[in-house]
Amino acid sequence: MSQRASRSYRAQAIVLKHREYDEADRILTLYTLEHGKLQAIAKGARKVKSRKAGHLEPFTLVLLQLAKGRTWEVIAQAEAQKTFQNIRDDLTLTAQAAYLVELIDRFSYEEGPNRALFQTLADGLQRLNEGFASETVVHYFELRLLENIGFRPELNRCLACDAKIQPEPQYYSPKLGGVLCPKCFSVDLTAWRISLNALKYLRYFQRSSWSKIKNRVIPPEIEQEIKHLIQHHFTYLLEKNLKTPDFLKAVN
Ligand SMILES: [Zn+2]
Repeated sequence: MSQRASRSYRAQAIVLKHREYDEADRILTLYTLEHGKLQAIAKGARKVKSRKAGHLEPFTLVLLQLAKGRTWEVIAQAEAQKTFQNIRDDLTLTAQAAYLVELIDRFSYEEGPNRALFQTLADGLQRLNEGFASETVVHYFELRLLENIGFRPELNRCLACDAKIQPEPQYYSPKLGGVLCPKCFSVDLTAWRISLNALKYLRYFQRSSWSKIKNRVIPPEIEQEIKHLIQHHFTYLLEKNLKTPDFLKAVN
């Protein structure tokens, strides 16, 4: 075995984004099943006849042969496994997929594998592609993402007094990571009020498998509330505003 071959390896990856580099190359940010997030260079990917290029578009699930490089990994071979064509054919779905991918990019570091996180992204893209209600797909994804990165929201007990949450409006604290009861809301003055219905949906989504959730359509006013609440949570975690929600608004 040559030295080069011994330093190459296979990876299943989802393309998060790419940027142009030099005259014909492309640098890709990938989330891989086996190694987590990494950056790789596709040499000659911008040449018209490049076989690799079509397999390396954002959102594509691709099987790669990678070689260790000095700055970036080098893509030796790329074979698309899923291109999610229905997403590509629809502007709104493309925006939703861009949002999922951006969240994964923002909440992952080059820190090694997180197989659950990879699966969450692969499932999210697959479900958007299959045509399930996109808000249902996105919010289910968001809750799994929070769980996968260690921020599973507490939705059943008050984070201040530990009382079981009663069926009435509550408060939601990104800072503390879940719900505060009406007696304790002043513990975090940045906590947002959450309606009973929105809380019920969040709990249901958190504890249920996709097969139970998949045909649910969230009523629009509850969906808006959930959307703003989760954005609030992500924004707190990232300490800066996400770019893609503005993009989603622009598309809508
Ligand atoms: Zn309390």
